[in-house]
Amino acid sequence: MEFTYNGKTYPCQIRRKQMKYIRIHVREDGSVYVSAPLHVPVSVIQQFLEENAAAVANRVEAVSAQKAAQHCFADGAVQYFLGKKIRLHYTDRPCHTTLEQDVLTLFARTEEEAQHAFRQWMISHCVELYRKVGREVYEHFTQAGYRVPLARIEVKDMTTRWGSCTASSGRISMNFRLMQYPVECVYAVFYHEYTHFMEQNHSKAFYRILYQMFPAYDKWDAVLKQKG
Ligand SMILES: [Zn+2]
Repeated sequence: MEFTYNGKTYPCQIRRKQMKYIRIHVREDGSVYVSAPLHVPVSVIQQFLEENAAAVANRVEAVSAQKAAQHCFADGAVQYFLGKKIRLHYTDRPCHTTLEQDVLTLFARTEEEAQHAFRQWMISHCVELYRKVGREVYEHFTQAGYRVPLARIEVKDMTTRWGSCTASSGRISMNFRLMQYPVECVYAVFYHEYTHFMEQNHSKAFYRILYQMFPAYDKWDAVLKQKG
């Protein structure tokens, strides 16, 4: 049996049981099965499925997405570093995480350990890069005649923002996850945050300065918005 929701077809298995009501289950692997009383006609089961199609389909999608996210850090999985694809390679011999060509060797036995090692490796790299890009952007603003402080940079783990600027204390916080994107994205966020030293809000004046300083802003901002 199957049901369709939003143009997508979901297969499901039926299991007959000594029971009173029809029940739908979404398993951990995203498959659907329906348990139904022994004598309920198939048409009734089908109708029940169709009535609950939205809820079941959403559940299947959620479970599948969760599963996919978990496998991002499996041995052999693909990750991104500065916009380039790299492949994870587990080793059970204690070592520093190293990137050679496009293979990232990490000391890990489970996906959880690999995720942790990957994250530490990204953080250790971003400190140096962010300092360099931050200084470059600062010098560019200064040369253009803007009065901005040389920002103190903090690396943060943020889930909803790429960066933030605290103008009063001359501080810029940067998300370490930016390290997965092309370096131009890092520049885009720095130009954005540096512009906040002059304009707190995303006003017309804000964008006038931002586009003057970094004309390709929209292009790289779109890359960041794409993946979310
Ligand atoms: Zn902003």
